[in-house]
Parts: sequence; structure tokens; C-alpha cells
Amino acid sequence: MSHSLYVHIPICIQKCTYCDFFSDVRYLNSVDKIIDSLIKELRIKAASSAVSAWNTIYIGGGTPSVLTNSQVRLLCSAIRSVAPVVAGAEWTIEANPEDITAEWLDGCAIEGINRLSFGLQSMNDEELSLVRRRGNRSTNLKALDTVNGHWPGEVSLDLISGLPGQTKESLAESISWACASKANHISLYSLTIEDGTALAHSLRSGTGPAVPRDDEADSLWLAGRDALIRAGFAQYEVSNFARTGHESAHNLVYWRMGEWIGVGPSASGTVRRGPCALRTTNAREIEAWLADPVGSAETEEIGPADCAKETLIMGMRLLEGVDRRNFANRFGRDILEVAGKTCAAWERRGLLRVSESRIALNAEGILLLNAFLGQCLEEMD
Ligand code: SF4
Repeated sequence: MSHSLYVHIPICIQKCTYCDFFSDVRYLNSVDKIIDSLIKELRIKAASSAVSAWNTIYIGGGTPSVLTNSQVRLLCSAIRSVAPVVAGAEWTIEANPEDITAEWLDGCAIEGINRLSFGLQSMNDEELSLVRRRGNRSTNLKALDTVNGHWPGEVSLDLISGLPGQTKESLAESISWACASKANHISLYSLTIEDGTALAHSLRSGTGPAVPRDDEADSLWLAGRDALIRAGFAQYEVSNFARTGHESAHNLVYWRMGEWIGVGPSASGTVRRGPCALRTTNAREIEAWLADPVGSAETEEIGPADCAKETLIMGMRLLEGVDRRNFANRFGRDILEVAGKTCAAWERRGLLRVSESRIALNAEGILLLNAFLGQCLEEMD
């Protein structure tokens, strides 16, 4: 059976103040050891899930661009030796702009990686330094130049709106650089202040940078959305935009509640069991994971009621919405039977489209996704 694969590289050189992804700055000298462990975990999990081929592969982090060319080669050849990669399958690696060199890109392309995702975030030095990004405008410009001139595959760029000090003009400038690059996919994330991050601590203690008020942040994101749409990128998910046919195949697996194997500290994986699912989540502590990557993971069975909710929570993030027939086949009831009152109310407000085959929020409705989901989940309880 073919699967998707997520590989988590749990290392960063410097921690950005807003980041709550799992990564550790203390393991930069242990990359070989971590790759050995990733490969061991991959072999065990692929065998136990009887993986026959890889549909999509995503090497994320953390900072995968801390890997040298030979470390990329070692990891990629292990992935290919475990199971063949389906012809034309999307294979992504994340990179930080300041690490990108022509040689590194060549090494990735030779291994079969065909999609590069990198966090441009902003083209403004002050905005980048206020959230402690390692790179700056000049490293971003250099990365864009190298990628545009050298990378043969797909490109996805990440941008952040609502950064401290950001204005509509500075965001528009960052977006115009992104749109003028060879990227066919752009993610525009609104900065969120996650508990436990350095940014949250500094704001609470009054020492943090001034961040836009909620209404200012909303209007920045909307201005960014409109600029991306004017440049020919269609919104297909809450924060994701693509030229037609360049949507992220790997992330669609998550949003459509597909199956994937996750390897590396903090990585999760999901296997479907009829209306239920088995979710495995790896240990976040690197030492515990290194000692026993598979044994230190936790597995939970998600029952049909929670799976049905998760299907809505993930699927309604997409402008395509949720497939009613698939939902009914898996859970034995139509969406309109379990959340019909909410759907009818949102349809009347002109925010939800209900057809024979799908329910989907429109571009205005998706701005109110959390309110919609809150009402659906309450109705489903
Ligand atoms: S480089 Fe990426 S993963 Fe690392 S701290 Fe910054 S945002 Fe987080």
C-alpha cells in the first residue's frame, strides 16, 4: 500500500521568537546521529505498515537545510531503499534562505527532491530582526536569486503578516518579491502568539516588540490575500495560495484526512481503520527519541465521533470543503444529518455552499472558520 511520509529534522541554529514547532538548538553537532536514528525508525515503520511506495514525501523541521549534501544523500537513499517513490510524486524539503546555495540545491535535485519550501517571511530587516530570524533582506535576496536561477523544481514560499513593525506597504513589498519569484505556491500566515514562545513571554513581561492590534493584523492579512489573488494565486486553504495545479499534494493528505507515516522527534503519523484512526506521536525529547524512536512514541485510537469532527476541522480549512459522500461512507451519516442546523444557518448567511457532493465555506466564510467549526462541534456533541 502506498503512503505519504513526513520526516522531521529537529534542529535549528537559532530559535525565532514566535516559533512553537519542535526544534532544538543544542543538537547541531549530532546531525549524523539523528539521521541514523531517522533511518532506523523509517525502516521499522515502513515494514510494520507494509509500505509499497511513497505517494508524497516532506522533509520538514526545524531546519532541514542544516543537512550537508552527504547527509541529504544518506537520508534520501534510505527513503528510496525502503520503498520506491511513485512516478511524479511530490517530494519537498524545507530550507532557510540563509542556508541556500547552488551546490545544496543540486544535491537535493539529484536525490529526487522536486519541491523546495522556504521561509522568506519578510523582506524587511527590522521585521525579521524583531522576531529573531537568522536571515535578513540581503540573505533573502540572495536565496531568491539562487533559487530562481538554479532550482529546477517547484518552489513554495512562506510569508508572515502581522509582524512587529509591519505596515501594508512593507507587506506589499515582501509579497511582490515572492510573486515575482518562480514560486507557484505561497503560504501567508498571520502571526500568532503561541503560549510558551519567547515572543509570548516578552509580551507578557512588557519587554516585547509592539505587535499589531487584532484589527490591524486582520487588515494586513486581508491586504496580503488580495495582493496574492491579484498576482494570480488562488486561495485554496486558510493560509495557502497556489497557481492552478500547484497546491501542496502532501499537505492535502493532512487536510483530506489521509494516511501518513511520521518519523523524527515530535512527528505524528495516522493510519485509518474504517471510521476510526490510529494516531502515533513521537517523543519530543530528543534523548528519549534517540534511545528508542519507536518505543518512545504514544499511540491513541481516535473513535468514530472524534474522527468525524476531525474530518470537518481539517477539511473545512480547504475552499473545496468536505466531500459529503466520503464522509457518509466512512461515518454512516451525511454531514447534514450531524451538523445540519449549523450548515443551514451559514448557507442562509451566504457563507457556506452546500451541493449534492460537498459543503464548503466561501472566501468570506473561511475568515470565520473557527466560529463555524465551534457551532458544528457543539451540534455534533
Ligand atoms: S527556523 Fe523555522 S523551525 Fe526554526 S525556530 Fe525559526 S520558524 Fe522555528
